[in-house]
Order: sequence, then structure tokens, then C-alpha cells
Amino acid sequence: MKRLAVIGAGISGLAAAYALRDAPVSVTVFEKSRGVSGRAATRRKQGFLYDHGANYIRPDTDRVRQLIAHELPTEELVDIGRPVWVFDGAGTIREGDPAANAAPKWTYRSGISTLGKLLARAADVDVHTQVRVVRLEHNGRTWTVVDADGVRYHPFDAVLLTPPAPQTREILAAGWFDAGVQEAVVDGLAVASYSSQFAVMLAYDAVLPRPGPFYALVNTDGEHPVAWLSFEDDKPGHVPPGHSLLVVQMAPGWTLAHYDAPPATLAEAAHRAAGSLLAVSLPEPIWTDRQRWRYALPTAAADAERLRAGEAIGLFFAGDALVGRGRVARALETGLEAAAALRAFLP
Ligand SMILES: Cc1cc2nc3c(=O)[nH]c(=O)nc-3n(C[C@H](O)[C@H](O)[C@H](O)COP(=O)(O)OP(=O)(O)OC[C@H]3O[C@@H](n4cnc5c(N)ncnc54)[C@H](O)[C@@H]3O)c2cc1C
Repeated sequence: MKRLAVIGAGISGLAAAYALRDAPVSVTVFEKSRGVSGRAATRRKQGFLYDHGANYIRPDTDRVRQLIAHELPTEELVDIGRPVWVFDGAGTIREGDPAANAAPKWTYRSGISTLGKLLARAADVDVHTQVRVVRLEHNGRTWTVVDADGVRYHPFDAVLLTPPAPQTREILAAGWFDAGVQEAVVDGLAVASYSSQFAVMLAYDAVLPRPGPFYALVNTDGEHPVAWLSFEDDKPGHVPPGHSLLVVQMAPGWTLAHYDAPPATLAEAAHRAAGSLLAVSLPEPIWTDRQRWRYALPTAAADAERLRAGEAIGLFFAGDALVGRGRVARALETGLEAAAALRAFLP
């Protein structure tokens, strides 16, 4: 039986493991955090449940629709009925694109991270959580995965790397393998870039009014300190009755300018910005939370052609770094595509 190491238990890595579930390949997934699903992330606090990374899944292709709506369990799958509206730098709100809003906006009653959990379960894969991979070594035939504690996992016939490009690049730059391949893949990743974003969550013990029947507002000109504001209330099962929870994603420029600001300052800024955007006097939040996403959304893709140099020695890539846009569905597809290439490499 051939052995594959997958670095990262985000949607792309788990989709690859899922697509290989019936192949004669033993898959081991290494994940640095405590849970699976990566940036398709969910937290629980004081009876609330909220998606603090990706807000929803837009199933763009038949393959993604088929997988999520027919192959995986769907009891928890929910469509956020209301539309996304837009606003500009002056805070002027307008209705969003009707065509874009006609598409489903999926999450799960138990949070968007359910997608990662369902993929991992259906793949029946061994996920080693809290293992941060720092280096890969190749002895000419097989790979060794080395973690931050110096623990060595081996042998693997192939490795699939899925973290955001700068993190993958670090792992590969520290690696020991064919110098020509190393140069090509490290350079191929160097052209990818990401924006950073704060997600600030504000919980209220009242149902907040809104100036329109929208679920969320997205800034379209990059001129506002807020990039995205949404009502987690619209996701069934996320917010207790009589309460509201706002997810406020601050713009990349604002995030960089306040990168080390204390949580209370961020919460206050997000609360004020939300009140001004919604044109209401908001009550004080009952609690707040925040997440600093260093590599939130890709702004430029990796050079897929250069990355292909790795395939000769069993080095494969997936994740939104290959897409150049932050989309759960697209990341998932890169995992399926990598699995197809791995099937050919690991006969
Ligand atoms: C704030 C925010 C809002 C977003 N909104 C949306 C949205 O509404 N809709 C949408 O479709 N998309 C959205 N996205 C984008 C979407 O979340 C991503 O495109 C998608 O989840 C990427 O999946 P991935 O598998 O490529 O990467 P990831 O989810 O980042 O998975 C990579 C995994 O690798 C792990 N890892 C990293 N380094 C190591 C290491 N050294 N060793 C071991 N493991 C490691 C990470 O912990 C992570 O779990 C949003 C993202 C953010 C941050």
C-alpha cells in the first residue's frame, strides 16, 4: 500500500483525502491546530455559534454541489436565505447583484467547520492534530515529515501541501530534497500573496434592526474600514432567540494599521463602525471575540506551472494559493484535482 502525507486539514487537504478514500493509498493528515477545517472555521461561546473565518459556501460547480448536497450527510446543511448587499467608502448601502444572490449560500446548523468534519469522517482518515510540520526530507525514494518537536514521520511515497503559500514556502525552503525542484517550488509559491483580516464578533442581547432585508453587507470599493458585516442570526441554530451576533471583518489596510491593537480597542472600533454603517445606535455588546487571520484571502495565485516541478518526486499542492481567491468551493476543487494527479502518481 502506498503512503501519502497531507499537510493541513483544511477543506482542500480533506477533499483530497476524501477523493482518495477508495484508492489503495494510506493517507495521514498533519494539522497544526486543534481541529479540522482550517479557515472554514466555527467557534462556540455562551450559547452562540459563529463562523469566524469563511461565512458561507457558494457551490459554484456541479462537482462541489454533488459532493456537498448528495455525497456527504446533509441533515445539518442550511441555506442562508437572505441576500448580500453592497456598500461603498461613504457607507452608502445598495442592493447586491441579483444573479450572485440567486446562488445558494450554504453553511451548517452546527457551523461551517462541519464541512471539514464531514469530509474527514467520510474519508476515514487519520488526522494528527497539533502537529506543526516544519520540514520535509526526501532520500531519493521516500519522504520524511518533520514536526516542530523534531518528531519524524516516515516513509511516505508522496506529500500533498495545502497551507497558505507563505507557510508552505517556509516548510519547503527548510527542506532537504532535489535542489532544482526546491528552487522551482519555492519560487512558484513566492508569487502568491495574501491579505490579512481581523474578524470581530459582537454579541447583543437584543435583535438588532437593519436598514434592509439583507444577511450581509460587503464593501465593493476597498475604501471603507469595514470589508464585511453579517448577521449570524440568519444562520439557523447559531444565535439564541432574542439575540444578535454581528461578524465584522475589518479591511486589510485597516487590519495592518491596527495589527497589534488590544482586543478591547478592536471590539470598540468594530462596534462603532457597525453602528455607523447600519445607521443605528447599537446597544453595548454582551461579549466580543476576535480572530486575526494573518493569511486570510489570497490576492495573487502561486505559479502552478513551477509547482508542477515537484510532481516528479512526489510533491503535490492544493489549496486556495493555487486559485488566487479565497473560496471554500474552489479550495475544495483543488483538493479533488490534486487527488486525481496523486492517483496517477501512486498507481
Ligand atoms: C475572514 C475570512 C472570510 C472568508 N470568507 C469566505 C466566504 O464567505 N466564502 C468562501 O467561500 N471563502 C471565504 N474565505 C476563504 C476560505 O476560508 C478559504 O479559501 C478556504 O477555507 C481555504 O481552504 P484551504 O484548504 O486552501 O486552506 P486552509 O483552510 O488555510 O487549510 C490549511 C490548513 O493547514 C494548516 N497548516 C498550516 N501550516 C501548517 C503546518 N506547518 N503544519 C501543519 N498544518 C499546517 C492550517 O492550520 C490549516 O488548517 C474566507 C476566509 C477568511 C479568513
